[in-house]
Amino acid sequence: MTVAVVGGGVAGMVAAWELARTSERDVVIFEASDRLGGALAPLRFGSVTLDAGAEAFATRGPEVRDFVEQLGLESLLTDPHPVGAWLQLPHTAGPLPLAGILGIPADPEAEDVRALIGDAAAERAAQDLHAPMRWTAQDRPSVGAVVRDRMGDALADTLVAPITAGVYSAGPDALDLRTVAPGLFETMLTEGSLARAVGAQKGRQEAAAKAGSAVQSLRGGLWGLVDVLERQLLAAGVRIERGRRIEDLAEISDCEDIVIALDAPEASDLLSRALSFPPLPSAFGGLGTTIPRSSGSGLPPWLIDDATRGVALVTLLLNAPQLDARPRGTGMLVSPKAEGITAKAMTHISAKWGWAKEELDAQLGAGHHAVRLSYGRIEDPHGPGRGSSDEELIALARRDVVTLFGQDLVGGPISGEQILDARVARWQRALPGTSAVQAARLREVQAALRRSGRMSGTGRPRLHLAGTWFAGTGLARVVPHARRVATDIARISST
Ligand SMILES: Cc1cc2nc3c(=O)[nH]c(=O)nc-3n(C[C@H](O)[C@H](O)[C@H](O)COP(=O)(O)OP(=O)(O)OC[C@H]3O[C@@H](n4cnc5c(N)ncnc54)[C@H](O)[C@@H]3O)c2cc1C
Repeated sequence: MTVAVVGGGVAGMVAAWELARTSERDVVIFEASDRLGGALAPLRFGSVTLDAGAEAFATRGPEVRDFVEQLGLESLLTDPHPVGAWLQLPHTAGPLPLAGILGIPADPEAEDVRALIGDAAAERAAQDLHAPMRWTAQDRPSVGAVVRDRMGDALADTLVAPITAGVYSAGPDALDLRTVAPGLFETMLTEGSLARAVGAQKGRQEAAAKAGSAVQSLRGGLWGLVDVLERQLLAAGVRIERGRRIEDLAEISDCEDIVIALDAPEASDLLSRALSFPPLPSAFGGLGTTIPRSSGSGLPPWLIDDATRGVALVTLLLNAPQLDARPRGTGMLVSPKAEGITAKAMTHISAKWGWAKEELDAQLGAGHHAVRLSYGRIEDPHGPGRGSSDEELIALARRDVVTLFGQDLVGGPISGEQILDARVARWQRALPGTSAVQAARLREVQAALRRSGRMSGTGRPRLHLAGTWFAGTGLARVVPHARRVATDIARISST
C-alpha cells in the first residue's frame, strides 16, 4: 500500500508530509537531484545564507501560515519591512501603488496611481467605472486584453507589465487572466467594472488573511522550511530517494498511488508513456515557438518551453552604507520600456528582511547589503536569462544595480568597488506556464487523466497531479493544493 511521490520540491514534500500524518500508508519520495526543496533553496555567501529561489509566501489566505505553524516554525515567521517596493518607469521611479492586483488599481484615480501614470492615463483608466461591459462568461481573455479594454494601454504598459514580468516573467498579453487571478474575471462581470472587481477581491483577501503584511517569510530564509520538513518526513518514516529521476512510471508501478509533483511538460511525458492517451486535438499550431519534446507520446509538444520559461537571478553582496536608508524601498519592479536596464526586478534583500540585514551586519560589519536582480522575459527568449553565461549576467547586474539606485543617491551612487561578490542561480521550470494556450493544455492533461479512470477508479497505480503547474504559481497555491491531493488519497484508501 505504498504511495510514491515523484518530485521532492515543496509540493511533493508537503503531499508526503500530509500523507504520513493522515494515513497509514508507506510513503516514498523520488527526487531527481541530490537535494530536496526544488525552488526553495539556499544561496551561500560564505557564512551568510540567503534564499536562492522563493523567498516569501503570500498571506492572502491562511493556509501557508497555518502549515508553517503546524511544522512548529511559528516563532520564525517574519514580515517584510513595510516600506514597500518601487516601480522603475522609463523616465521616473516611485513607490508602487498600494491597493491593486497585478498592478491593476482598485481606484484608478488614486494619488499614487496618478503620480506614476499621469492625469490623462488615470482619467482613461477611470472610464472603466462607467463603460459598458463587452466581456462575457464565454470569453477567456489575457490580462492585457482586459486591462487595455477597460483601463487603457498606458495603465497596462506602465503599472501592470512590470508586475507581471516580475512575478510571471511574462507581459500581460501573454497571461491568461483566469489562471493568474482566479475569480477576478467573473467578479468583473458581476461588478461591471475591473476596478470594482479588484476592490472586491482585495477586500475578500484582506478579510481572509490574518492581519499583517501581504507576504511573510521565515527568519534565516524560507529555504529553512525544507530542512525542517525533511526532518519531520524522516521522523514519520517517509523514505527519501535522492538522485532518482523517474523516467517511466513503470519503474514504480508496484505502488498503489503515485503523486506526480513535477512540472507539466515532464508530468505529461510520464503520463503519455504510462497511459495510452489518444492524440489530443492539435489546436495549438502557429501560436508560438514550438520546441518538440513529446514526439510520439500522444500529447502535443509544449509551447514556450525550456528556452523561455527560465529565469536567472544574480545576488550581489555590497558594502554600501548609502543603502541603509532603503532608498528604493524593498526593491524595484522594472518597466520593460525602461531603457538601459535589463533586469526585470530587483529585490533589496537587506532592506526587505530585517533578519538578513542583522546577519550581514553580524558576519561582515555594518553597511553591508544584498540585492537580487532577475533576468529573463518570455517575450524576449533570446535576451539575457537562464541561458546566459555567469559573466554576462554578473556584468549586467553590476551595471543595473547602479542605474536602479540612481546617480542622486544620498551618499553618492554605488561604485564598482562597493560590489564585493556575486552569485548566479538559474531556474528552469519552477514557474508554470500561464498563457491561455498553456492553461488549455493543462486542462487537457487533467481531463485525459480523468478519462483514463486512473485518478480514483480501479486501475492501478492510481495517479494524482500536484505542484505549481497544476496548482498555480507560488506557495499559497502549491501548499494547500498538495495537502488536498494527499487528503483525497488518504480518503480514497480508507473507503
Ligand atoms: C526564482 C523563483 C522565485 C520564486 N519566488 C517565490 C516567492 O517568493 N513566493 C512564492 O510563493 N513562490 C515563489 N516562487 C514559486 C515557488 O517557488 C514554486 O511555486 C514552488 O516552489 C514550486 O514547487 P513544486 O514542488 O511544484 O516544483 P519544484 O520546486 O520545481 O520541484 C519539482 C522537483 O521535482 C524534481 N524532478 C523533476 N523531474 C523529476 C523526475 N522525473 N523524477 C524525480 N524528480 C524530478 C526536481 O528536481 C524538483 O526538485 C518562485 C519560483 C522561482 C523559480
